Amino acid sequence: METPLSPMEFARRARRLYAGREAVVDGDLRLTYAQLFDRCDRWSAALQAFGVAQGDRVAYIAPNTHAQLESFYAVPQIGAVIVPINYRLIPGDFAYIINHSGSRVVCAHSDYLDAVDSIRDQLPEVTHFVALEGAKEGWLDYEAILADSPAAFTAPAIAEGDLLAINYTSGTTARPKGVMITHRNAAINILTTLAHHHLGPEDRYLWTLPMFHANGWTFVWIVTARGMAHICLRRVEPRTIFPLISAERVTMFCAAPTVLIAIASAPDELRAGAPRGVRLFTAGAPPAAATIELVEGELGWEITHVYGLTETSPLITICEPLPEHAALSPSARAVLKARQGVEMLASGEMRVLDPEGNEVPADGATLGELTVRGNVVMKGYFNDPEATARAIRDGWFYTGDAGVVHPDGYIEIRDRFKDVIISGGENISSVEVEGVLLRHPAVQEAAVVGMAHERWGEAPHAFVVLKPGASSSEAEIKQFVRDHLAHFKTPQWVSFVDELPKTATGKIQKYVLRGGGTGIAKQ
Ligand code: AMP
Repeated sequence: METPLSPMEFARRARRLYAGREAVVDGDLRLTYAQLFDRCDRWSAALQAFGVAQGDRVAYIAPNTHAQLESFYAVPQIGAVIVPINYRLIPGDFAYIINHSGSRVVCAHSDYLDAVDSIRDQLPEVTHFVALEGAKEGWLDYEAILADSPAAFTAPAIAEGDLLAINYTSGTTARPKGVMITHRNAAINILTTLAHHHLGPEDRYLWTLPMFHANGWTFVWIVTARGMAHICLRRVEPRTIFPLISAERVTMFCAAPTVLIAIASAPDELRAGAPRGVRLFTAGAPPAAATIELVEGELGWEITHVYGLTETSPLITICEPLPEHAALSPSARAVLKARQGVEMLASGEMRVLDPEGNEVPADGATLGELTVRGNVVMKGYFNDPEATARAIRDGWFYTGDAGVVHPDGYIEIRDRFKDVIISGGENISSVEVEGVLLRHPAVQEAAVVGMAHERWGEAPHAFVVLKPGASSSEAEIKQFVRDHLAHFKTPQWVSFVDELPKTATGKIQKYVLRGGGTGIAKQ
């Protein structure tokens, strides 16, 4: 007797057990699980009335609203495939993704109706345009359709290998690729995350991480599976986050390191009175030990560092705390926590390989490429067998991330291979230099890229955002790095900037810093 592994199975259980519990808070709107699922069922019936069949794709462009959350149930429970699009992209990118995915229905939040209108003539296959809020001429009104729709839809049989989502993600310059995530991929990510991290109906989750990004690291389904409350958040800024955490008794959220930095450097009046004990996951970029120490020490929050890619559903590793870590000093523990960690329970096998395909020694020094095989690796890139074959070779998915293995088996990412700066024949990890810069008392954020250098071929160039009111100089920053690292790692150039170019999920767009144009950003 086998039940296909699917987040829809967890939803079936949740609708039975948590019907009366609070499911969603979105501004003034509050929904119980019974109300949430009633809305999802109505939308499923409406989509079927539009002609959406099993395997069809439905595209969404929306921030973290209740309607965006509803898509993650209404679309897959009829066997259709959700395509959540990064709303920070430009209209031309929306057109590319909608057409490449073959989506026939496009649902957009009010902020994006004009953007979609500007590309309508490029979307010949789309039959239905739905405004999730603020419908205007030429748009169907989501709420009006929901109100008129029956709650009965036809539920097809879903196999665990069926497509659940296509998440578009790009390299630094290429067109985005559609990562095919199956019901099984997501279900395994959910179960594995929960095996490492206890969550239950007593928890309340704040939506700081975009739902479109790798399906919110599958928290769109994890939160429901455990009968928790989804606290929606439309703008990620400390002056909204801190009051919501207090008012809604938030116990957990996920955040890229850049959001952690914003939290850690928020003004005292915001941080005062913040409840202690909030737990959070961080990933998406390497978090600096200094940031971890600050958030844990000053706010009393508990950080769990995880790592993965859209292509791996997304989580592969967790920096698993061990009892013996508790005896370490806070700063020594933060250095450990800044490591990406160890394989998660059922995500699959991870190896760090040298260019010859051999595992690197566990010496904390030899750099190799992180590769993984197993349950969370995507089915492939949608309609792109060549890109799939480049990424998955001999049964292994190649992440493009460069890391070392420490003697205790914990993996630490030092860079992405293409980001390694080779200066005078010596490799420099930009992450390492950034880690030092972030320890400078005047520095709020920093990014280091390789730039052409007459003598050394390449040399590090640091882009630095200073803390409000702080001052420094190029010479002082260089001296600070020189005091902490080998001289050849010292940036040859330091540019002070107001902000760093970032994707919606907080990843620094290093190719922009290198002067590499404005291609679609990697999430
Ligand atoms: P995405 O597919 O947009 O989620 O990007 C995945 C990439 O983000 C990975 O290949 C890494 O380069 C980076 N990344 C994700 N999590 C971490 C982490 N914990 N530490 C360092 N880099 C990370």
